[in-house]
Amino acid sequence: MIRTFAELDLDPTLLEAIEEMGFSRPTEVQAQAIPQALDAKDILASAPTGTGKTASFAIPAIQYLLDFPRKKAGPARILVLTPTRELAMQVAEQTRALAKYSRLKVATITGGVTYDSHAETLAQTQDIVVATPGRLMEYIESERFDCRAIEWLVLDEADRMLDMGFGPTVDRLSAECRWRKQTLLFSATLEGRGVEGFTADLLNEPAEIDAEPSLRERKKITQWYHRADSAEHKLALLKHILSEQAQRTIVFVKTRERLAELRQQLDSAQIPCSWIQGEMPQDRRNNAISRFREGSVNILLATDIAARGIDLPDVSHVINYDLPRSADVYLHRIGRTARAGKKGIAISLVEAHDQPMMDRVGRYTKELIKERFIEGMRPTHKKPVFKKKKKAKKDDKKKVTKKKGAKKK
Ligand code: ADP
Ligand code: MG
Repeated sequence: MIRTFAELDLDPTLLEAIEEMGFSRPTEVQAQAIPQALDAKDILASAPTGTGKTASFAIPAIQYLLDFPRKKAGPARILVLTPTRELAMQVAEQTRALAKYSRLKVATITGGVTYDSHAETLAQTQDIVVATPGRLMEYIESERFDCRAIEWLVLDEADRMLDMGFGPTVDRLSAECRWRKQTLLFSATLEGRGVEGFTADLLNEPAEIDAEPSLRERKKITQWYHRADSAEHKLALLKHILSEQAQRTIVFVKTRERLAELRQQLDSAQIPCSWIQGEMPQDRRNNAISRFREGSVNILLATDIAARGIDLPDVSHVINYDLPRSADVYLHRIGRTARAGKKGIAISLVEAHDQPMMDRVGRYTKELIKERFIEGMRPTHKKPVFKKKKKAKKDDKKKVTKKKGAKKK
């Protein structure tokens, strides 16, 4: 296994760009995926959020284009699909930075942008196109994007794309790109929601990579929760945390309505924040994100849909103002903090009815998430205990297995 980028026999200009980005050594997923991708293999890789999956495909893709330069102008040769436009922009940005000393052209095609502004992109020669599936499909259908020149198809955040219902569109795009040589699929998880069946059709004898982040990369996220007696108590806890403890914080709420409500409440408390939600005009989303990224505000309110796949640097705190709908989403949320080896804090605010979900999160993450208290703001109600109905279920199962066993015999 390689330990340095220098061992990879990369183009010196690419190595220089990598160094300039401050990547001193490859992360686990990079060390495993890059050599295989350069070896012309299909890739099926899973690695936790924030462990450098983008460069895992961008570096070999650039090297490939340098190894096999195009002979004449023409359409894109590498297509990267991502679930959201923010992610597409971030992937493109990182790819451009890595391709800084090459002449390669990187473009994005996403929804939320006027059709006109894509015209130029579509007319010019591109090397790498980063796209969201829906809009790209529209251009293919209207014969404005040509997939026949695609040599590599990369699926980034495949689990999210499936979650968002892009499965059929990705299948169609894959068929459109049938002349490709390689397919690379990256995902935070490969479990659940049919990722397996999905990947079987897309990939050809892929190298399977399941990168456990090394200790150095592993996130140091400290997690705890506060119990709240009521919605008012919860808001008071949040205001306290935001003003006393948190530095750069993402606050998660479950719906747009909840976001609007909280925005007003923080506004009346004169706590400045910016916010993103699904179905928001592109320029306003960009604005909100860049205000947060540049530090002119330190609090970003977000719904889960809006926050998918966004890499926001230096987030110190993730606050679950509303608990997520599943433990899996919890992990995605807290993955926004402690990026690339930094430390982070994840705080959940839990009303009585949230307790079962909080318990589920603890079981799922196999971590002891402790309750903490803020002096003067302690909850007055007792922590509710929800009896697990496990016992009954277990008995049921036993009976079932017995029956099955009996039948078999
Ligand atoms: P993922 O797609 O796995 O969630 P990203 O590709 O977005 O992760 O990378 C997360 C962060 O880590 C980015 O800010 C990126 O610049 C940084 N990063 C990537 N590779 C390295 C590396 N080898 N060394 C240090 N930082 C890295
Ligand atoms: Mg990523």
